[in-house]
Amino acid sequence: MTATQPTAVDITALTRAQRATLPLSADVAQALAEQHGVCIRPLAMRRIDTTTGRTDIVPVPCGSTRADQCPPCADKARRLRMAQCRQGWHLDAEPVTDRAKPSEQHQELMATRADLAAVYTECKAIGDEVTCEQIAESVAELDTELRAAGVRGRLTPLDPPAKPVKRSTRRRQDAPDLPRRPVEHRTLGRVFAGRYRPSTFLTLTLDSYGRVDSDGAAVDPDLYDYRRAARDAIHFPALLDRFWQNTRRCVGWEVQYFGTVEPQKRGAPHFHAAIRGAIPRTELRAITAATYHQVWWPAHDRLLYTDQRLPVWDTRAKAFTDPDTGTPLPTFDQASEELAEPAHVVRFGTQVHVKGILGGTEEAGRHVGYLTKYLTKSVSQAAGLGEHATDAHRDHAHRLHAQLRVT
Ligand SMILES: [Zn+2]
Repeated sequence: MTATQPTAVDITALTRAQRATLPLSADVAQALAEQHGVCIRPLAMRRIDTTTGRTDIVPVPCGSTRADQCPPCADKARRLRMAQCRQGWHLDAEPVTDRAKPSEQHQELMATRADLAAVYTECKAIGDEVTCEQIAESVAELDTELRAAGVRGRLTPLDPPAKPVKRSTRRRQDAPDLPRRPVEHRTLGRVFAGRYRPSTFLTLTLDSYGRVDSDGAAVDPDLYDYRRAARDAIHFPALLDRFWQNTRRCVGWEVQYFGTVEPQKRGAPHFHAAIRGAIPRTELRAITAATYHQVWWPAHDRLLYTDQRLPVWDTRAKAFTDPDTGTPLPTFDQASEELAEPAHVVRFGTQVHVKGILGGTEEAGRHVGYLTKYLTKSVSQAAGLGEHATDAHRDHAHRLHAQLRVT
């Protein structure tokens, strides 16, 4: 927005084109809001005082984390994340508080629940649906009471869910074995030379799918493996979960981190993490190389039904059926039952960047900046797909998107 000099304007003397260049009142209000660092699109909430019956409208900030939606709210959210990262990264005292001991009331409620669950199972076995329903209601009330009394964690459901198909979790032959240590109940790293407690900055990247130019566009789009790129991107979060699980088991303490996933220019996600405590570089490299995630989905390499020929819902069979033969299609679980191998396996690429960083240094501050740099950007902005993107880069993004649609 360009600044306008405040001069008296006779609107009636202006042409339509000239009038169009004058600022809109909404734009003026928005510029003012941004200048004062307050939300530019607050929600108006009606508040009713239940004793006096008085009603007034209060503006509530939109709370967006995207700068293209509301710069002040997004900036506020980013600053909060920066503060959290800075404070948590280099802690020298355990942040975990001990859980409160279960009270007598907690134990009583839990015992009653267990008794009811036992009766429920008996009634279920003899087919007494009415009693089952009554018990289920009582248990639901008990659960509400337990939650209100401050009990966290999972409460066993009355009807245990069907057991999922068991699969071998044996490591594949090509994955190197990791040492395994018992996990200690601590999140702090070691102190070196009696006073230094370095922390770690880690960057994990996905594999190469083909050569890319400096903008991140494939040099030869026909040779670039868009399918693998799309699948790896979709299953990247599961791969990260596996990575932290492996890390904690391997290093032997409850490693904590502040992490962000960002798109690279080529469209692949990569991961930055500020890990509390020092982990040897060789160990992190070994864990990264050994980590993989198997996707036990039915094969999904070929589109069987497209927009012109879609499955039909059969009310009587309660299933989607083939439009030509009318045979019910297998459910996801049925199709997954007889799988001999996973449909896809995700791994990290060979690029692993590890850096030791001391708290309170200029370097630590700089890395907090890296970690939060793209927090207010949309995925396409962060991947450099703004107005200045090259045609090759746009084409690259479209090809990746086409694969993501069928992944
Ligand atoms: Zn806002």
